[in-house]
Amino acid sequence: MAGEIGHVTIDPCDELCGCGNHGCMETVATDVALCRAVSRCYGTSLDVDELVRLVRSGEIHPDEEIRATIEYLSIAISMVINIFNPSSVFVRGKMLGAQENLFQQLLHLVRQRTLAAPLADCRVHHASVTKLQGAVAGIVMHLANALAPTFS
Ligand SMILES: [Zn+2]
Repeated sequence: MAGEIGHVTIDPCDELCGCGNHGCMETVATDVALCRAVSRCYGTSLDVDELVRLVRSGEIHPDEEIRATIEYLSIAISMVINIFNPSSVFVRGKMLGAQENLFQQLLHLVRQRTLAAPLADCRVHHASVTKLQGAVAGIVMHLANALAPTFS
């Protein structure tokens, strides 16, 4: 379970998480979290595909909910970069397709929150593949960086 930041408490007064605590990262910084917040706001039950479609078509404007979710996500990414100093971070989320430049907005927030030295060593990627593909790509990249011979 090492590295499971989804259950780091970010807001102890927020939603009950499946793990039994309140306000875990995954209750505030994920597609599911955004869907819950927007569904509550509009009195309906949306999945992330519906949410993205409605936002992109201009039928709903959950700007505050998107801003809050992206901000929490930036906190999670910054925390990972500050703690682990990775060379790459892969960010995956269908919500990032809801508005133009949302990933760029996320990167802006990450830059504001992350220490300069680890940020300089890290590249944040917008992963558009499945979770499993992203995990495999991350492992391969890490192994290549850690084990591959260098040529200088
Ligand atoms: Zn939890």
